[in-house]
Amino acid sequence: MTSLTAVRDRELNVLESAQRVVESALRQLGYGPEYVELLKEPLRMLTVRFPVRMDDGSVRVFTGYRAQHNDAVGPTKGGVRFHPDVTAEEIQALSLWMTIKCGIHGLPYGGGKGGVVCDPRTMSAAELERLSRAYVRAISQIVGPTKDVPAPDVFTNAQIMAWMLDEYSHLREFDSPSFITGKPRAIGGSAGRETATARGVALCVEEAARRRGLSLAGARVIVQGFGNAGSYLAQFMHEAGARVVGISDAYGALYHPDGLPVPELLAARDSFGTVTTRYSNTITNAELLEQPCDILVPAAIENQITADNAHRIQASIVVEAANGPTTLEATRILTQRGVLLVPDVLANSGGVTVSYFEWVQNNQGLYWPEEEVAEKLRSTMLSSFDKVYRMAEEHGVDMRLAAYMVGMERTAEAMHYRGWL
Ligand code: NAD
Repeated sequence: MTSLTAVRDRELNVLESAQRVVESALRQLGYGPEYVELLKEPLRMLTVRFPVRMDDGSVRVFTGYRAQHNDAVGPTKGGVRFHPDVTAEEIQALSLWMTIKCGIHGLPYGGGKGGVVCDPRTMSAAELERLSRAYVRAISQIVGPTKDVPAPDVFTNAQIMAWMLDEYSHLREFDSPSFITGKPRAIGGSAGRETATARGVALCVEEAARRRGLSLAGARVIVQGFGNAGSYLAQFMHEAGARVVGISDAYGALYHPDGLPVPELLAARDSFGTVTTRYSNTITNAELLEQPCDILVPAAIENQITADNAHRIQASIVVEAANGPTTLEATRILTQRGVLLVPDVLANSGGVTVSYFEWVQNNQGLYWPEEEVAEKLRSTMLSSFDKVYRMAEEHGVDMRLAAYMVGMERTAEAMHYRGWL
């Protein structure tokens, strides 16, 4: 019985998992099947193929996507991922999650997402610039400051946003800083954007610990993944007095029950979040997840906590910094075991929240100091955490389903008022 469940669990891809929770959330809220039918996939999905001249003179053709999940509430919003494993299905799931994230915080957006199948680790800066510009030209018809607003995601950064903004302003012949977020500050980026995702995760860790009566000072924390999300999170946990006992990257993991030297690891990591290759006494990522700790933060990739290892997770709090790190069956097992699981759509939504602040600042031409951004992020995250926590308690459901319920409600209502359904 257990192994059959495990097989079913593994066979659900990220999109199917998201669709299943959307269906349960809409049902719990009393919406009919037509809402499920419309919200289970994006309203629009553009596939583009475009040529890029490589440094050696050859031309390579790349495939990219832009998904616009739902624009009943407002323009769509979501990052662009450059990765060899990008698929149409993954981009669709990510755009759906963006609708939920925006809905949880009441941001005036629906979800969007983009991606290009490529490996930036093997490309020069000049090739990446040509690819970024070509991608913007290819999707330019459907994006824009009041239509669909891109941002960084896996393997894209502020420099790539800057090239994309520059290309867009050539195409549209007006200055349009609010076309894209996550830009460098010199061209309209917001203070605090780079660390926003990790700050949001840290706020969720603090709040989850508080609700469980666990003091963060001295609490043992494991962070899987040491990139943008994981490394800043490790830093914030260290600064809050927690003991970071484990970290990892794609190549392995480090664990020490007395705590790791976080500042040293931060100084040693490269721009792709690699650090463990400098050490010899490593363990595997799978082993790391099962080590003793109070708080576990998966901040790397999908499907890390599954029906196979959920029983062996020792943390009493799991906060998902990555998108989709825990399968639905593992969510059920952890919740049944009394683990407080703060889902991705809530925990990692600090990035889109500060992206929204960036868009607002661009539109009004008035820029806020870092403390103001941090304070606004704090109040947004804590009030949304509370909304989701109360929804879970009132309906007797886990935090993931509760987050989808909070996140989907406004989009469903907007579609109703617009007369779509
Ligand atoms: P990143 O590329 O900066 O870092 C990823 C980290 O994960 C690196 O340390 C890498 O070595 C590690 N990793 C890669 N493959 C792995 C594997 N197979 N096993 C273990 N570790 C592996 O990415 P990021 O921006 O930190 O994003 C990490 C996760 O957080 C992703 O799921 C992303 O969607 C999610 N997220 C990020 C942001 C953001 O603003 N950065 C916002 C929302 C969600």
